[in-house]
Amino acid sequence: MEFNTPFYQYHPNWLEESITQAANGSRRNRIQIRYALKANHNPLVLSHIQKAGFGIDAVSGPEVAHALDHGFSPDQINLAGAGKTRSEIRFALEKNIHYLNVESLQEIHRIQEIASELYTTARICLRVNPDIDAQTHPHISTGQKGHKFGIEESDLKRAFQLIKASSRVHWLGYHFHVGSQILNIKVFEDLCHVVNQIQQKYTALGWTPSILNLGGGLGIDYHVPHAQADFQSYFNIINKNLIRQGAEVHVEPGRSLVAGACSLVSEVQYTKLSGGKNIAILDAGMNHLMRPALYGAYHHIEKLGRQNLEILPFDIHGPICESSDCFGRDRDLPKLEPGDLLEIHHAGAYGETMASAYNLRAGIPLKTVDRVVVA
Ligand SMILES: *Cc1c(COP(=O)(O)O)cnc(C)c1O
Repeated sequence: MEFNTPFYQYHPNWLEESITQAANGSRRNRIQIRYALKANHNPLVLSHIQKAGFGIDAVSGPEVAHALDHGFSPDQINLAGAGKTRSEIRFALEKNIHYLNVESLQEIHRIQEIASELYTTARICLRVNPDIDAQTHPHISTGQKGHKFGIEESDLKRAFQLIKASSRVHWLGYHFHVGSQILNIKVFEDLCHVVNQIQQKYTALGWTPSILNLGGGLGIDYHVPHAQADFQSYFNIINKNLIRQGAEVHVEPGRSLVAGACSLVSEVQYTKLSGGKNIAILDAGMNHLMRPALYGAYHHIEKLGRQNLEILPFDIHGPICESSDCFGRDRDLPKLEPGDLLEIHHAGAYGETMASAYNLRAGIPLKTVDRVVVA
């Protein structure tokens, strides 16, 4: 074999296609894209995003720095996060990024203090918790009562009072992000209705937004190899349901833009039977792709090379010393042997960026190979 495993196999054609779909849909509906950098920050991926003219949604100071280092201009970047430290806020203000999405009343105080110290003005949007069920996995649902994200609607009045009293804080609009891997497009329609209610209520009090940021969350069908997200329905439903009052509309897709841009390619190390089950153990693990272990996420797994073998159900495990280090159970695959290569699809979003060095296993490269050729 010509490659050392495991590695992320890069699919630039998939990425070009998703970016084109997203760019066309957003342009037609006059919506701006701020790509959620946390989904995949690989420079190869970012170069495509940057060429498309998309901005960046950052959720930490280092992500802001990474975006700046990779050619994005400050006015293309916004910063969210429920736990922004003083130094992250200072950095964002010093770099003069477009705006911060503020997630608590205390954060307004903190931003006012730091902006005063820097003799500058901070542009902010208020991240509102719209209390909407994203109908996705609880671990990636972010917009319901009791969640740590955003400001409760009942606190908005207080937030506007604080902003009014803060001479160094300039309010631009609202930010929402209700969750990830949202496949029921109706969720975005419901979100638009909540956004409309909120903005109408406060516009009547003199607070007219110039930015409406609806966050990310558009899902992808992980059961279909190489599937693309449905950007067209997504942008149409926003355009149809959102009242704009002349405001710019921003969205922050992450997963939907990059999920299929990489697969994880790994070699079977051992096979065995345990309790009557066929077990295969790979050289890739949850340290490289954590989603299955973290939230039971499904990734399609394909055997590369010879297919004309007996089909058997296999449990596909990584080498990490945790039983949750399992990429899939009871997957029907051509009979596996040590040395076989498997492709784990749609590993481009929240794969490499969530990788860890657990068990002191190192990270792996992103390889630009067109096709993995197996003898
Ligand atoms: C994670 C995140 C996103 C991107 O979510 P996807 O489901 O990957 O589209 C967008 N905005 C914010 C604030 C986020 O935290």
